[in-house]
Amino acid sequence: MSQSTRRGTYRRIEGIPASPGIAIGKAFTHRVESPAADSPRKIPAHRVEAEVGRFRAALEAVAGDVRRTRQRVEHEHGTDLALIFDAQLAMLEDAQVRDATIERIRSAKRSAEGAFAATMGALRREFEKIDNEYLRARVGDLKDIEQQVLVHLAGGGFSGLQTLRSNTVIVARDLLPSEAAQLARRLVTGLVTDVGGETSHTSIIARSLGLPTVVGTGEASWAVRAGDLLVVDGDEGTVHVRPDAATLRRFRTRRRRQLRRERELSRRADLPTVTRDGEEVVLLANLDLPQEIDLAVRNGARGVGMLRTEFLYLGYGLPSEADQFDCYSRIVKAMAPQPVVVRTIDLGGDKLIHAVDSPPEANPFLGWRGIRICLDNPDLFKTQLRAILRAAVHGETRILLPMISGLEEIRQAREMIAETADELTREGVDHRADCRVGVMIEVPSAAITAEQLAGEVDFFSLGTNDLVQYTLAVDRGTARVAELYQPLHPAVLRLIRQVSEASLAAGIPTSICGEMVADPVAALLLLGLGVRQLSVSPPQIPEVRELLRAAEIGRMSELAGQCLTLTSAREVRERVEAEMAEVLAAARPPSEVEG
Ligand code: PEP
Ligand code: MG
Repeated sequence: MSQSTRRGTYRRIEGIPASPGIAIGKAFTHRVESPAADSPRKIPAHRVEAEVGRFRAALEAVAGDVRRTRQRVEHEHGTDLALIFDAQLAMLEDAQVRDATIERIRSAKRSAEGAFAATMGALRREFEKIDNEYLRARVGDLKDIEQQVLVHLAGGGFSGLQTLRSNTVIVARDLLPSEAAQLARRLVTGLVTDVGGETSHTSIIARSLGLPTVVGTGEASWAVRAGDLLVVDGDEGTVHVRPDAATLRRFRTRRRRQLRRERELSRRADLPTVTRDGEEVVLLANLDLPQEIDLAVRNGARGVGMLRTEFLYLGYGLPSEADQFDCYSRIVKAMAPQPVVVRTIDLGGDKLIHAVDSPPEANPFLGWRGIRICLDNPDLFKTQLRAILRAAVHGETRILLPMISGLEEIRQAREMIAETADELTREGVDHRADCRVGVMIEVPSAAITAEQLAGEVDFFSLGTNDLVQYTLAVDRGTARVAELYQPLHPAVLRLIRQVSEASLAAGIPTSICGEMVADPVAALLLLGLGVRQLSVSPPQIPEVRELLRAAEIGRMSELAGQCLTLTSAREVRERVEAEMAEVLAAARPPSEVEG
């Protein structure tokens, strides 16, 4: 929503707060539509060689851009993510693409733009025909490359993510989780998208990177011009476009206060996470990218509650056992002697399934996802399991299975884990066969039958991002229904209590790794519902610790019991806010207090 519609004036856009904090920077509009590519223009014979030269120069310039981005991403995020760019470089350096385009310029006297678009169009059609989903998925890379070269030929800077300057706020209709993962923290200070929800994977990655983010604005990518000064308020979910002096001053003050608070909290990372009535709560880290382990350790995480491993599959080709072993070992060693829970791949849903052959689906979140893909692809699954069991020799490592909907899946997966361990034993490869195995409770059927599942696993991990969407039938990534996505809905709270009681009765631990933990009201309720292990992204650990230290379990259990009888998420929030006002105020960041 805007207060003013005249371009050039201060304007406020509202969206969904997806990652907290204030960012101030210049807008970089990331648009995915192609520039006018295929000009029918014929070129005169004497211009042909100049046109060939222009084309070669564009290819080289774009390859240079991609190489520089690759280097920067490698420096900031490590080799795993940088591999994404190798695919693009391979295409830019492909002799067939180059020669076919030059041939078109020479024989058909077409412009460089027209010739290149024709070459890429033909190649895309070839790829689309291939009966292999992984190769078909490369069409996205082809389009990306085509776009970059065409924009370069058109004389403009590339409107992709390659040309970022420091203090940039990315404004896009949407970002793929893989694109979000490439954002170099040093250069990008904030993120704004038209679509998406609080728990879509792009938002989760933004939180992991500590990037203030507003999603679901509906209009930002068109309302904002490249170079506009922006304030992103990731706490409130507002974007201030070309703010006036008073607004800018207000937000600069808030940002300064936040930075001061972050510094203070980081000095308190060694304090135990013990409630006022003396109960210890285990605070763990969710990792989306391996390099986050450093901040998790610095912020005093008591282990990794969930390592998402999908990032390994975002690049070109499947990750080898050796690559995975290196990656898991690094994390396990960095966290030792604290445990690391490695979640097996949860591809599907809003994460690309390059890795495996799969036809498009009408409802990807209800389709071939997570454990379903793994059980259908024993080679894919066992490669990952081998790497995990081998990494486990370096420290306490646990296996977490995503998207479990019933007991049979657990039995099948455990059988494959046992087979994998046997294979390693036969081959004489060093490994641990006794890793604990747990399941994500994120599908309502699993929550409802938690009592049965508890007898066959070593731990539960409540994945409320999905549990909420499946229980309430609300897509976690659709801005239009974001208001209905309510983690505090009494139906969700009842399921959580059911799971926590089942795990208590069976004597196995339950942790929670959904994003709702970062909401102070929800974190307090979770304590009251019996959960004693909370896993959050590393930047959020200090704030959650402050809150837990101010809380009292006794009071929360009583309050949580009352909340289960209420009829709406709004009533639950109001009740907790009213009863726990002092606890919430004691742990609230200053930006919210000053608002
Ligand atoms: C969840 O569903 O809560 C969860 C942690 O898994 P993901 O967000 O990766 O689906
Ligand atoms: Mg999930």
